[in-house]
Amino acid sequence: MLYLSTRGHSDRKRFCDILLEGLAPDGGLYLPERYPRIDDAALTRLRTAYHEQGYAELAFQILSLYIDDIPAADLKRLCEKTYTAEVFGTGEIVPLRHLEDGLWLEALSNGPTLAFKDMAMQLLGNLFEYELARRGEQLNILGATSGDTGSAAEYAMKGKAGVRVFMTSPSGRMSPFQQAQMFSLQDANIHNIAIEGVFDDCQDIVKAVSNDLEFKRRYKIGTVNSINWARLLAQVVYYFAGYVQATETNDQKVSFTVPSGNFGNVCAGHVARMMGLPIDRLVVATNENDVLDEFFRTGVYRVRGSADTHETSSPSMDISKASNFERFVFDLLGRDAARTQALFGDALARDGRFDLSADPHFAEAATRYGFASGKSTHADRLATIKDNFVRHGVTIDTHTADGVKVALEQRGDAAVPMIVLETALPIKFAETIVQALGQPPERPAKFEGIEALPKRVQLMPADAEAVKDYIRRHVPEAA
Ligand SMILES: *Cc1c(COP(=O)(O)O)cnc(C)c1O
Repeated sequence: MLYLSTRGHSDRKRFCDILLEGLAPDGGLYLPERYPRIDDAALTRLRTAYHEQGYAELAFQILSLYIDDIPAADLKRLCEKTYTAEVFGTGEIVPLRHLEDGLWLEALSNGPTLAFKDMAMQLLGNLFEYELARRGEQLNILGATSGDTGSAAEYAMKGKAGVRVFMTSPSGRMSPFQQAQMFSLQDANIHNIAIEGVFDDCQDIVKAVSNDLEFKRRYKIGTVNSINWARLLAQVVYYFAGYVQATETNDQKVSFTVPSGNFGNVCAGHVARMMGLPIDRLVVATNENDVLDEFFRTGVYRVRGSADTHETSSPSMDISKASNFERFVFDLLGRDAARTQALFGDALARDGRFDLSADPHFAEAATRYGFASGKSTHADRLATIKDNFVRHGVTIDTHTADGVKVALEQRGDAAVPMIVLETALPIKFAETIVQALGQPPERPAKFEGIEALPKRVQLMPADAEAVKDYIRRHVPEAA
Protein backbone atom coordinates (compact mmCIF):
# COMPACT_ATOMS: atom_id res chain seq x y z
CA MET A 1 0.00 0.00 0.00
CA LEU A 2 1.37 3.41 -0.99
CA TYR A 3 0.27 6.81 0.30
CA LEU A 4 -0.20 9.92 -1.82
CA SER A 5 -0.57 13.60 -0.97
CA THR A 6 -3.92 15.36 -1.38
CA ARG A 7 -2.09 18.07 -3.36
CA GLY A 8 -0.50 15.68 -5.81
CA HIS A 9 3.08 16.95 -5.85
CA SER A 10 4.84 14.63 -3.42
CA ASP A 11 6.30 11.18 -3.98
CA ARG A 12 4.23 8.19 -2.98
CA LYS A 13 5.47 6.66 0.24
CA ARG A 14 5.03 3.61 2.42
CA PHE A 15 3.47 3.59 5.87
CA CYS A 16 6.60 3.76 8.02
CA ASP A 17 7.95 6.70 6.03
CA ILE A 18 4.88 8.82 6.67
CA LEU A 19 4.57 7.56 10.25
CA LEU A 20 7.29 9.92 11.46
CA GLU A 21 6.31 12.81 9.14
CA GLY A 22 3.64 15.50 9.44
CA LEU A 23 2.44 17.26 6.30
CA ALA A 24 3.56 16.02 2.90
CA PRO A 25 6.33 18.23 1.44
CA ASP A 26 3.81 19.87 -0.95
CA GLY A 27 1.68 20.97 2.03
CA GLY A 28 -0.97 18.27 1.51
CA LEU A 29 -2.08 15.41 3.74
CA TYR A 30 -1.31 11.75 3.14
CA LEU A 31 -4.02 9.27 2.17
CA PRO A 32 -3.85 5.69 0.94
CA GLU A 33 -3.92 5.33 -2.86
CA ARG A 34 -7.18 3.43 -2.47
CA TYR A 35 -9.36 2.23 0.41
CA PRO A 36 -9.24 -1.54 0.89
CA ARG A 37 -12.78 -2.95 0.52
CA ILE A 38 -14.36 -5.10 3.21
CA ASP A 39 -16.90 -7.49 1.68
CA ASP A 40 -19.57 -9.42 3.55
CA ALA A 41 -17.31 -12.39 4.33
CA ALA A 42 -14.49 -10.14 5.53
CA LEU A 43 -16.88 -8.19 7.76
CA THR A 44 -18.05 -11.45 9.30
CA ARG A 45 -14.42 -12.38 9.98
CA LEU A 46 -13.86 -9.01 11.68
CA ARG A 47 -17.03 -9.46 13.73
CA THR A 48 -15.79 -12.85 14.93
CA ALA A 49 -12.29 -11.49 15.56
CA TYR A 50 -13.65 -8.78 17.88
CA HIS A 51 -16.07 -11.02 19.76
CA GLU A 52 -13.80 -14.04 20.12
CA GLN A 53 -10.27 -12.61 20.20
CA GLY A 54 -10.83 -9.01 21.19
CA TYR A 55 -10.12 -5.45 20.12
CA ALA A 56 -6.37 -5.97 19.61
CA GLU A 57 -7.03 -8.68 17.03
CA LEU A 58 -9.61 -6.50 15.26
CA ALA A 59 -7.07 -3.65 15.21
CA PHE A 60 -4.38 -5.96 13.84
CA GLN A 61 -6.62 -7.20 11.02
CA ILE A 62 -7.66 -3.70 9.96
CA LEU A 63 -4.18 -2.16 10.26
CA SER A 64 -2.73 -5.06 8.21
CA LEU A 65 -4.75 -3.85 5.23
CA TYR A 66 -2.84 -0.56 5.30
CA ILE A 67 0.59 -1.46 6.64
CA ASP A 68 2.84 -3.76 4.62
CA ASP A 69 6.24 -2.58 5.80
CA ILE A 70 6.02 -3.99 9.33
CA PRO A 71 6.16 -7.81 9.58
CA ALA A 72 2.73 -9.21 10.54
CA ALA A 73 4.01 -10.84 13.74
CA ASP A 74 5.48 -7.51 14.90
CA LEU A 75 2.32 -5.55 14.07
CA LYS A 76 0.23 -8.08 15.94
CA ARG A 77 2.48 -7.81 18.97
CA LEU A 78 2.28 -3.99 18.88
CA CYS A 79 -1.54 -4.15 18.80
CA GLU A 80 -1.63 -6.64 21.66
CA LYS A 81 0.72 -4.50 23.72
CA THR A 82 -1.44 -1.40 23.09
CA TYR A 83 -5.04 -2.48 23.52
CA THR A 84 -5.15 -4.17 26.92
CA ALA A 85 -7.86 -4.16 29.58
CA GLU A 86 -5.21 -2.88 31.97
CA VAL A 87 -4.64 0.32 29.91
CA PHE A 88 -8.22 0.83 28.70
CA GLY A 89 -10.19 -0.28 31.74
CA THR A 90 -12.36 -3.02 30.16
CA GLY A 91 -11.90 -6.12 28.02
CA GLU A 92 -14.18 -4.63 25.36
CA ILE A 93 -11.85 -1.58 25.19
CA VAL A 94 -14.70 0.49 23.64
CA PRO A 95 -17.93 -0.82 25.25
CA LEU A 96 -21.33 0.41 24.05
CA ARG A 97 -23.75 1.80 26.58
CA HIS A 98 -27.45 1.99 25.83
CA LEU A 99 -29.00 5.42 26.49
CA GLU A 100 -32.51 5.16 25.06
CA ASP A 101 -34.41 3.79 22.08
CA GLY A 102 -31.98 3.62 19.18
CA LEU A 103 -29.34 5.74 20.92
CA TRP A 104 -26.01 4.41 22.17
CA LEU A 105 -22.79 5.80 23.60
CA GLU A 106 -19.49 4.24 22.53
CA ALA A 107 -16.97 4.71 25.33
CA LEU A 108 -13.63 5.80 23.91
CA SER A 109 -12.35 7.56 27.01
CA ASN A 110 -11.20 4.93 29.44
CA GLY A 111 -7.53 5.18 28.49
CA PRO A 112 -4.80 6.75 30.63
CA THR A 113 -5.85 10.40 30.06
CA LEU A 114 -9.61 9.85 29.89
CA ALA A 115 -10.07 11.20 26.36
CA PHE A 116 -10.48 9.40 23.04
CA LYS A 117 -7.09 10.63 21.86
CA ASP A 118 -5.55 7.79 23.88
CA MET A 119 -7.08 5.29 21.43
CA ALA A 120 -4.68 6.42 18.70
CA MET A 121 -1.86 7.95 20.69
CA GLN A 122 -1.15 4.79 22.71
CA LEU A 123 -0.62 2.89 19.46
CA LEU A 124 1.48 5.73 18.04
CA GLY A 125 3.80 5.54 21.06
CA ASN A 126 4.44 1.85 20.44
CA LEU A 127 4.80 2.33 16.66
CA PHE A 128 7.30 5.17 17.18
CA GLU A 129 9.40 3.18 19.62
CA TYR A 130 9.42 0.21 17.24
CA GLU A 131 10.29 2.16 14.09
CA LEU A 132 12.91 4.41 15.73
CA ALA A 133 14.68 1.35 17.17
CA ARG A 134 14.60 -0.33 13.76
CA ARG A 135 16.22 2.76 12.19
CA GLY A 136 18.56 3.47 15.07
CA GLU A 137 17.11 7.00 15.24
CA GLN A 138 15.81 9.38 17.89
CA LEU A 139 12.88 11.77 17.78
CA ASN A 140 12.13 14.85 19.85
CA ILE A 141 8.46 15.67 19.76
CA LEU A 142 7.67 19.34 20.13
CA GLY A 143 4.04 20.24 20.67
CA ALA A 144 1.58 22.83 21.89
CA THR A 145 -1.45 21.84 23.89
CA SER A 146 -4.41 23.39 25.59
CA GLY A 147 -5.20 20.08 27.28
CA ASP A 148 -6.14 16.73 25.79
CA THR A 149 -3.56 16.28 23.01
CA GLY A 150 -0.56 17.07 25.17
CA SER A 151 -1.47 14.72 27.97
CA ALA A 152 -2.41 11.90 25.56
CA ALA A 153 0.98 12.32 23.83
CA GLU A 154 2.90 12.35 27.10
CA TYR A 155 1.16 9.25 28.48
CA ALA A 156 1.80 7.46 25.18
CA MET A 157 5.50 8.39 24.94
CA LYS A 158 6.57 8.29 28.59
CA GLY A 159 9.37 5.84 29.17
CA LYS A 160 9.62 4.99 25.44
CA ALA A 161 13.15 4.51 24.10
CA GLY A 162 14.29 6.93 21.42
CA VAL A 163 11.57 9.52 22.04
CA ARG A 164 11.49 12.72 24.08
CA VAL A 165 8.49 15.02 24.42
CA PHE A 166 8.73 18.80 24.82
CA MET A 167 5.16 19.98 25.41
CA THR A 168 4.34 23.66 25.67
CA SER A 169 1.09 24.79 27.30
CA PRO A 170 -0.28 28.20 28.29
CA SER A 171 0.64 28.73 31.93
CA GLY A 172 -2.33 28.52 34.30
CA ARG A 173 -4.91 28.08 31.55
CA MET A 174 -5.57 24.35 31.63
CA SER A 175 -8.01 22.91 34.15
CA PRO A 176 -6.37 21.92 37.48
CA PHE A 177 -7.06 18.27 36.64
CA GLN A 178 -5.38 18.56 33.22
CA GLN A 179 -2.36 20.35 34.72
CA ALA A 180 -2.04 17.69 37.39
CA GLN A 181 -2.25 14.90 34.81
CA MET A 182 0.62 16.29 32.77
CA PHE A 183 2.84 17.92 35.35
CA SER A 184 2.84 14.98 37.75
CA LEU A 185 4.68 12.78 35.24
CA GLN A 186 8.16 12.11 36.54
CA ASP A 187 9.57 10.33 33.47
CA ALA A 188 12.92 11.71 32.32
CA ASN A 189 11.89 11.79 28.64
CA ILE A 190 8.89 14.06 29.28
CA HIS A 191 9.40 17.83 29.47
CA ASN A 192 6.52 20.13 30.41
CA ILE A 193 7.06 23.74 29.40
CA ALA A 194 4.54 26.26 30.74
CA ILE A 195 4.59 29.37 28.56
CA GLU A 196 3.73 32.80 29.97
CA GLY A 197 1.07 33.45 27.34
CA VAL A 198 -1.96 31.95 25.62
CA PHE A 199 -2.34 28.82 23.47
CA ASP A 200 -1.63 30.79 20.27
CA ASP A 201 1.75 31.83 21.71
CA CYS A 202 2.57 28.14 22.24
CA GLN A 203 1.58 27.33 18.67
CA ASP A 204 3.65 30.24 17.34
CA ILE A 205 6.68 28.94 19.23
CA VAL A 206 6.27 25.45 17.78
CA LYS A 207 5.97 26.96 14.30
CA ALA A 208 9.02 29.20 14.78
CA VAL A 209 11.17 26.30 16.00
CA SER A 210 9.97 24.01 13.18
CA ASN A 211 10.67 26.70 10.58
CA ASP A 212 14.31 26.79 11.68
CA LEU A 213 15.21 23.89 9.40
CA GLU A 214 18.80 23.64 10.57
CA PHE A 215 17.68 23.37 14.22
CA LYS A 216 14.90 20.97 13.29
CA ARG A 217 17.33 18.66 11.49
CA ARG A 218 20.07 18.81 14.10
CA TYR A 219 17.73 18.15 17.03
CA LYS A 220 15.43 15.70 15.20
CA ILE A 221 12.28 17.69 15.92
CA GLY A 222 8.96 16.00 15.08
CA THR A 223 5.27 16.30 15.95
CA VAL A 224 2.31 14.09 16.79
CA ASN A 225 -0.52 16.36 15.70
CA SER A 226 -3.90 15.19 14.49
CA ILE A 227 -2.98 15.15 10.79
CA ASN A 228 -0.71 12.13 11.38
CA TRP A 229 -2.10 9.30 9.22
CA ALA A 230 -1.27 6.59 11.77
CA ARG A 231 -3.45 8.34 14.36
CA LEU A 232 -6.33 8.52 11.94
CA LEU A 233 -5.91 4.88 10.93
CA ALA A 234 -5.94 3.72 14.56
CA GLN A 235 -9.29 5.50 14.97
CA VAL A 236 -10.87 3.60 12.06
CA VAL A 237 -10.82 0.47 14.24
CA TYR A 238 -13.35 1.68 16.81
CA TYR A 239 -15.95 2.40 14.13
CA PHE A 240 -15.79 -1.31 13.29
CA ALA A 241 -15.90 -2.23 16.98
CA GLY A 242 -18.97 0.00 17.48
CA TYR A 243 -20.69 -1.51 14.46
CA VAL A 244 -20.19 -5.15 15.45
CA GLN A 245 -21.42 -4.44 18.97
CA ALA A 246 -24.58 -2.65 17.81
CA THR A 247 -25.61 -5.18 15.13
CA GLU A 248 -26.02 -8.90 14.80
CA THR A 249 -25.92 -9.24 11.02
CA ASN A 250 -24.11 -7.39 8.24
CA ASP A 251 -27.30 -6.22 6.52
CA GLN A 252 -27.95 -3.76 9.36
CA LYS A 253 -26.77 -0.17 9.18
CA VAL A 254 -25.73 2.19 11.97
CA SER A 255 -25.08 5.93 12.13
CA PHE A 256 -22.45 7.75 14.17
CA THR A 257 -22.49 11.22 15.71
CA VAL A 258 -19.03 12.60 16.36
CA PRO A 259 -18.12 15.61 18.54
CA SER A 260 -15.73 17.35 16.14
CA GLY A 261 -12.97 19.91 16.04
CA ASN A 262 -10.13 19.16 13.68
CA PHE A 263 -12.18 16.54 11.78
CA GLY A 264 -9.73 13.76 12.72
CA ASN A 265 -12.19 11.54 14.53
CA VAL A 266 -15.03 11.74 12.00
CA CYS A 267 -12.57 11.46 9.10
CA ALA A 268 -11.72 8.00 10.45
CA GLY A 269 -15.45 7.24 10.21
CA HIS A 270 -15.40 8.39 6.61
CA VAL A 271 -12.51 5.99 5.91
CA ALA A 272 -14.40 3.12 7.57
CA ARG A 273 -17.45 3.91 5.43
CA MET A 274 -15.32 4.05 2.27
CA MET A 275 -14.02 0.58 3.17
CA GLY A 276 -17.59 -0.68 3.07
CA LEU A 277 -18.59 -0.66 6.74
CA PRO A 278 -22.41 -0.29 6.62
CA ILE A 279 -22.59 3.25 8.03
CA ASP A 280 -25.76 5.11 7.15
CA ARG A 281 -24.88 8.63 8.26
CA LEU A 282 -21.89 10.39 9.80
CA VAL A 283 -23.14 13.34 11.84
CA VAL A 284 -20.62 16.06 12.63
CA ALA A 285 -21.39 17.85 15.92
CA THR A 286 -19.65 21.16 16.60
CA ASN A 287 -19.76 23.63 19.46
CA GLU A 288 -19.97 27.41 18.97
CA ASN A 289 -16.92 27.08 16.71
CA ASP A 290 -19.09 25.91 13.86
CA VAL A 291 -16.73 25.97 10.85
CA LEU A 292 -17.72 22.42 9.90
CA ASP A 293 -21.45 22.77 10.55
CA GLU A 294 -21.43 25.84 8.31
CA PHE A 295 -19.75 23.88 5.52
CA PHE A 296 -22.12 20.93 5.63
CA ARG A 297 -25.13 23.26 5.74
CA THR A 298 -24.01 25.78 3.10
CA GLY A 299 -20.99 24.57 1.13
CA VAL A 300 -18.92 27.50 2.40
CA TYR A 301 -15.72 26.70 4.27
CA ARG A 302 -14.53 29.76 6.14
CA VAL A 303 -11.49 29.81 8.43
CA ARG A 304 -12.12 31.92 11.52
CA GLY A 305 -9.82 34.67 12.79
CA SER A 306 -8.73 34.59 16.43
CA ALA A 307 -11.39 37.19 17.37
CA ASP A 308 -13.98 34.80 15.89
CA THR A 309 -12.71 31.70 17.68
CA HIS A 310 -14.63 31.23 20.90
CA GLU A 311 -13.36 29.82 24.17
CA THR A 312 -16.07 27.35 25.15
CA SER A 313 -16.88 24.76 27.78
CA SER A 314 -16.03 22.02 25.25
CA PRO A 315 -12.51 23.42 24.75
CA SER A 316 -11.04 20.51 22.77
CA MET A 317 -13.34 21.49 19.90
CA ASP A 318 -12.32 25.17 19.92
CA ILE A 319 -10.77 25.41 16.47
CA SER A 320 -10.48 28.13 13.85
CA LYS A 321 -10.01 25.65 11.00
CA ALA A 322 -10.32 21.87 10.77
CA SER A 323 -6.88 20.53 9.94
CA ASN A 324 -8.00 17.10 8.64
CA PHE A 325 -10.85 18.43 6.50
CA GLU A 326 -8.71 18.53 3.35
CA ARG A 327 -8.70 14.73 3.34
CA PHE A 328 -12.46 14.55 2.96
CA VAL A 329 -12.68 17.36 0.40
CA PHE A 330 -10.09 15.55 -1.71
CA ASP A 331 -12.34 12.48 -1.81
CA LEU A 332 -15.47 14.62 -2.31
CA LEU A 333 -13.91 16.22 -5.39
CA GLY A 334 -13.23 12.80 -6.90
CA ARG A 335 -9.60 12.92 -5.69
CA ASP A 336 -8.76 15.92 -7.85
CA ALA A 337 -5.38 17.03 -6.42
CA ALA A 338 -5.17 20.17 -8.58
CA ARG A 339 -8.51 21.42 -7.24
CA THR A 340 -7.58 20.49 -3.68
CA GLN A 341 -4.40 22.54 -4.09
CA ALA A 342 -6.43 25.43 -5.56
CA LEU A 343 -8.85 25.40 -2.59
CA PHE A 344 -6.61 24.64 0.40
CA GLY A 345 -3.30 25.93 -0.94
CA ASP A 346 -4.44 29.00 -2.85
CA ALA A 347 -8.00 30.14 -1.99
CA LEU A 348 -7.61 29.76 1.79
CA ALA A 349 -4.30 31.62 1.75
CA ARG A 350 -5.82 34.39 -0.38
CA ASP A 351 -9.39 34.73 0.91
CA GLY A 352 -9.55 32.57 4.04
CA ARG A 353 -12.57 30.79 2.52
CA PHE A 354 -13.89 28.81 -0.41
CA ASP A 355 -17.41 28.11 -1.61
CA LEU A 356 -18.51 24.77 -3.06
CA SER A 357 -22.26 25.51 -2.88
CA ALA A 358 -22.59 25.63 -6.67
CA ASP A 359 -20.40 22.57 -7.24
CA PRO A 360 -22.36 19.38 -8.05
CA HIS A 361 -19.96 17.47 -5.77
CA PHE A 362 -21.20 19.39 -2.72
CA ALA A 363 -24.60 17.68 -2.67
CA GLU A 364 -22.78 14.34 -2.62
CA ALA A 365 -21.39 15.10 0.85
CA ALA A 366 -24.86 14.17 2.11
CA THR A 367 -26.17 11.85 -0.59
CA ARG A 368 -23.12 9.79 -1.42
CA TYR A 369 -20.90 10.17 1.66
CA GLY A 370 -23.66 10.27 4.30
CA PHE A 371 -22.60 13.47 6.07
CA ALA A 372 -24.92 15.62 8.17
CA SER A 373 -24.12 18.17 10.86
CA GLY A 374 -25.39 20.21 13.78
CA LYS A 375 -24.23 22.68 16.38
CA SER A 376 -24.45 22.92 20.15
CA THR A 377 -23.93 25.84 22.55
CA HIS A 378 -23.04 26.23 26.22
CA ALA A 379 -26.74 26.31 27.18
CA ASP A 380 -27.39 23.17 25.10
CA ARG A 381 -24.47 21.45 26.81
CA LEU A 382 -25.79 22.21 30.32
CA ALA A 383 -29.31 21.09 29.38
CA THR A 384 -28.07 17.89 27.73
CA ILE A 385 -25.82 16.94 30.65
CA LYS A 386 -28.70 17.51 33.05
CA ASP A 387 -31.21 15.63 30.89
CA ASN A 388 -28.94 12.58 30.58
CA PHE A 389 -28.31 12.55 34.29
CA VAL A 390 -31.98 12.82 35.17
CA ARG A 391 -33.37 10.42 32.58
CA HIS A 392 -30.57 7.86 32.29
CA GLY A 393 -28.45 8.33 35.42
CA VAL A 394 -25.42 8.89 33.19
CA THR A 395 -23.04 11.83 33.54
CA ILE A 396 -21.51 12.77 30.19
CA ASP A 397 -18.72 15.23 29.52
CA THR A 398 -19.19 18.55 27.73
CA HIS A 399 -17.91 17.36 24.32
CA THR A 400 -19.99 14.21 24.42
CA ALA A 401 -22.97 16.41 25.36
CA ASP A 402 -22.50 18.36 22.13
CA GLY A 403 -22.67 15.01 20.35
CA VAL A 404 -25.77 13.80 22.16
CA LYS A 405 -27.57 17.11 21.57
CA VAL A 406 -26.97 16.93 17.83
CA ALA A 407 -27.63 13.16 17.66
CA LEU A 408 -31.11 13.63 19.16
CA GLU A 409 -31.91 16.21 16.46
CA GLN A 410 -30.55 14.05 13.65
CA ARG A 411 -31.62 10.62 14.85
CA GLY A 412 -34.17 10.04 12.08
CA ASP A 413 -35.05 6.42 11.39
CA ALA A 414 -35.22 4.64 14.76
CA ALA A 415 -34.45 1.33 13.06
CA VAL A 416 -30.91 2.56 12.42
CA PRO A 417 -29.02 2.69 15.73
CA MET A 418 -27.32 6.03 16.35
CA ILE A 419 -23.98 5.69 18.15
CA VAL A 420 -22.58 8.82 19.78
CA LEU A 421 -18.83 8.69 20.32
CA GLU A 422 -18.00 9.58 23.91
CA THR A 423 -14.78 11.59 23.57
CA ALA A 424 -13.86 12.37 27.20
CA LEU A 425 -14.88 11.58 30.77
CA PRO A 426 -16.68 14.32 32.75
CA ILE A 427 -14.03 14.56 35.49
CA LYS A 428 -11.78 16.44 33.02
CA PHE A 429 -14.33 19.26 32.83
CA ALA A 430 -15.69 19.22 36.36
CA GLU A 431 -16.48 22.93 36.55
CA THR A 432 -19.15 22.75 33.84
CA ILE A 433 -20.58 19.55 35.31
CA VAL A 434 -21.05 21.34 38.64
CA GLN A 435 -22.78 24.14 36.74
CA ALA A 436 -25.13 21.65 35.07
CA LEU A 437 -25.82 19.26 37.97
CA GLY A 438 -24.90 21.16 41.11
CA GLN A 439 -22.47 18.40 42.00
CA PRO A 440 -19.07 17.26 40.74
CA PRO A 441 -18.69 14.16 38.54
CA GLU A 442 -17.34 10.90 39.81
CA ARG A 443 -13.57 10.61 39.84
CA PRO A 444 -11.96 7.31 38.79
CA ALA A 445 -10.06 5.88 41.76
CA LYS A 446 -6.64 6.07 40.14
CA PHE A 447 -6.97 9.86 39.84
CA GLU A 448 -7.76 10.41 43.52
CA GLY A 449 -5.62 13.25 44.85
CA ILE A 450 -3.52 13.83 41.72
CA GLU A 451 -3.67 17.60 42.20
CA ALA A 452 -1.48 17.17 45.29
CA LEU A 453 1.31 15.22 43.54
CA PRO A 454 4.68 16.94 43.02
CA LYS A 455 4.81 18.82 39.70
CA ARG A 456 7.56 18.75 37.12
CA VAL A 457 7.23 21.80 34.88
CA GLN A 458 9.47 24.55 33.53
CA LEU A 459 8.03 28.08 33.36
CA MET A 460 9.26 30.12 30.38
CA PRO A 461 8.53 33.42 28.59
CA ALA A 462 6.73 33.27 25.23
CA ASP A 463 9.99 33.19 23.33
CA ALA A 464 11.03 30.57 20.78
CA GLU A 465 14.73 31.17 21.55
CA ALA A 466 14.20 30.25 25.20
CA VAL A 467 12.49 26.99 24.16
CA LYS A 468 15.27 26.18 21.68
CA ASP A 469 17.83 26.80 24.36
CA TYR A 470 16.01 24.43 26.70
CA ILE A 471 15.93 21.74 24.00
CA ARG A 472 19.67 22.22 23.32
CA ARG A 473 20.38 21.63 26.98
CA HIS A 474 18.27 18.45 27.15
CA VAL A 475 19.10 16.69 23.90
CA PRO A 476 22.53 15.14 23.48
CA GLU A 477 23.49 16.33 20.01
CA ALA A 478 23.04 13.69 17.34
CA ALA A 479 26.24 12.43 15.73
C1 LIG B 1 -9.74 16.29 20.30
C2 LIG B 1 -11.10 16.20 20.89
C3 LIG B 1 -12.26 16.35 20.09
C4 LIG B 1 -12.20 16.71 18.63
O1 LIG B 1 -11.71 15.68 17.83
P1 LIG B 1 -11.22 15.98 16.33
O2 LIG B 1 -10.55 14.75 15.89
O3 LIG B 1 -10.26 17.16 16.44
O4 LIG B 1 -12.41 16.34 15.52
C5 LIG B 1 -13.49 16.18 20.70
N1 LIG B 1 -13.60 15.90 22.02
C6 LIG B 1 -12.52 15.75 22.80
C7 LIG B 1 -12.71 15.47 24.25
C8 LIG B 1 -11.22 15.88 22.28
O5 LIG B 1 -10.15 15.73 23.07
